[in-house]
Amino acid sequence: MAKLSIRDLDLKDKVVFMRVDFNVPLNDAGEITDDTRIKASLPSILYALRNDAKLILASHLGRPKGKPNPKMSLQPVTVRLAQLLNRPVSFARDCVGPELERNAAELKPGGVLLLENLRFHKEEEGNDPDFARQLAAPANVYINDAFGSAHRAHASTEGITHYVPVRAAGLLMEKELEYLGKALQNPLHPYVAIVGGAKVSDKIKFLQNLMGFADTVLIGGAMAYTFLKAQGLDVGQSRYEPDKLDLAREVLQLAKQKNVKFKLPQDHVVAAKLDASAQGEIVNSSSIPADRLGVDIGPATTAEYVAEIRQARMIIWNGPMGVFEMDQFSKGTMEIARAVAASDAVSIVGGGDSVAAVHKAGVADNITHISTGGGASLEFLSGLKLPGVEALPEKP
Ligand code: AMP
Repeated sequence: MAKLSIRDLDLKDKVVFMRVDFNVPLNDAGEITDDTRIKASLPSILYALRNDAKLILASHLGRPKGKPNPKMSLQPVTVRLAQLLNRPVSFARDCVGPELERNAAELKPGGVLLLENLRFHKEEEGNDPDFARQLAAPANVYINDAFGSAHRAHASTEGITHYVPVRAAGLLMEKELEYLGKALQNPLHPYVAIVGGAKVSDKIKFLQNLMGFADTVLIGGAMAYTFLKAQGLDVGQSRYEPDKLDLAREVLQLAKQKNVKFKLPQDHVVAAKLDASAQGEIVNSSSIPADRLGVDIGPATTAEYVAEIRQARMIIWNGPMGVFEMDQFSKGTMEIARAVAASDAVSIVGGGDSVAAVHKAGVADNITHISTGGGASLEFLSGLKLPGVEALPEKP
């Protein structure tokens, strides 16, 4: 079932409260260093403006911990957004209150008002009903386009939906739900999941859920060492989770029961330490030296994983294969990124680090869908219900 979309609504002359994700990085001078997230919201914003909405935009920026903090003001976004839209954008110094209600009342069709950081009020994350009612006060229509925040029940993602009768998903939210929904409900086979990153514990629900539909799971990153240790191998100084060995064994058992090909690295790049000058050497899983740590998958593993990726019709990737932030340990992750991009499969990449990896490899344009929500996409693909998505009505 698809969610009601902004395209299904009449926005003319309506005050539209749109929750966006403008959580952009700022430098010490308060300048935006990367406006990708602003650009990602433009399709929904432009759609609303073309349809004569009076648009209110609201977002988080940084973690001001419930108090106003000028370093985390959304004011710089006003300037950038006005440039991108080529029209004026006004700014409300508070996201609730009488001044906002006056500003909202003055909005004309095609007008844009950006609210100050929602997180300047602790009631936002507390999902306080009274605060949610105040946010809702000027709005006739609520649009959620912030998929990356949908796994949190905040006043602007969940509470507000109780007070605005007309609600729908924005275009970015709609696209996320379409692709991630396909990955969950209409899997194509062979279905290959590539799972890496730091910890098994962060991705345990995802791994368990994958066993319901994946044919092959390729494991990399530090989490591989928890699995290898659980199988009795010596992992030297590699990062692993000593208290998660039983959990790792349960996952291995589940894979066997469900007949899922669950692959662990057969060789590794190991190093004496994690720093820019450290050099790697290649060893097999059975011979990781006691004074070395695993930092990347080795060439035999990479070749084996690439062969699996080539046969896939659906690929889902979350988590790097090694410490890809360091160039000398990024080879495995880069080759996986290139193989995913070269494949004819429907490919979905989620999680901040794997998304950074496909950009670093220069292949982002050849990925079917790059999710904007790290935590949210992981929870969605773990089969969990996201409060911000649940709060949106289904299409009739
Ligand atoms: P995650 O946020 O769980 O996807 O983990 C990503 C982080 O895991 C990145 O910062 C990687 O540098 C790190 N990582 C990946 N492989 C390893 C490894 N073998 N040893 C230590 N850290 C790793």
